[in-house]
Amino acid sequence: MESKEILLNTLLKNNKIILSELTTEDIGDEHISTSLDTPLRRDAFDLSDAEKIRKIESHFREIMETLGLDLSDDSLNGTPHRVAKMYVEEIFSGLSPANKPKIALFENKYQYNQMLIEKDITFYSNCEHHFVPIIGKAHLAYISSGKVIGLSKLNRIVNYFAKRPQVQERLTMQIAKELQEILGTKDVAVLIDAKHLCVSSRGIKDNSSATVSSFYDGKFLEEKTKEEFLKYVSLKTDY
Ligand SMILES: [Zn+2]
Repeated sequence: MESKEILLNTLLKNNKIILSELTTEDIGDEHISTSLDTPLRRDAFDLSDAEKIRKIESHFREIMETLGLDLSDDSLNGTPHRVAKMYVEEIFSGLSPANKPKIALFENKYQYNQMLIEKDITFYSNCEHHFVPIIGKAHLAYISSGKVIGLSKLNRIVNYFAKRPQVQERLTMQIAKELQEILGTKDVAVLIDAKHLCVSSRGIKDNSSATVSSFYDGKFLEEKTKEEFLKYVSLKTDY
């Protein structure tokens, strides 16, 4: 599989792309993001979830009708409501801070000060430029500064940030920054390997490419530690 590597630490320092010189298509096809925070409106949470579902349902009905679909057909009739409910309650539920996972930390009783890795966390996200799926695996690692986190919580953090319209670089950074904050350490690594359906099913229709993005900070900036992490991530297990 051919893969495109994005090294975030380098990318961010040189992140001086002038967006006004690019067309809407360029921004979408190159999957350029403008900030680390998900761009949200000030009034993002003024409406309740139920109100959002009602509003999206009516707009989505209009999209389908504009496409020429006959919504009196039994198969299509419930689609606007299903899509609206899925957007708000499932695939974009990570936009709301109310859905952020509550994380409890434990004392690191065993004084385990080695690298802790949770790999192959499957996630489903959506590209913010085309609103079609990004499917991938996230690999996270940290070195405890005295606290440890429940392993299932790492999955929850990945999935919270994945359930937003995303670009892969931002997803990587948001997960990494959250881990650093919760764990109180800079020693965090995040590697994401994902397939963007907007690349494979439309546009350049490249079916075999994957995008790899990574974030390394603290001790993971040291070559030895980074290599150890990458070695564990690529380890093929048979269980
Ligand atoms: Zn896209």
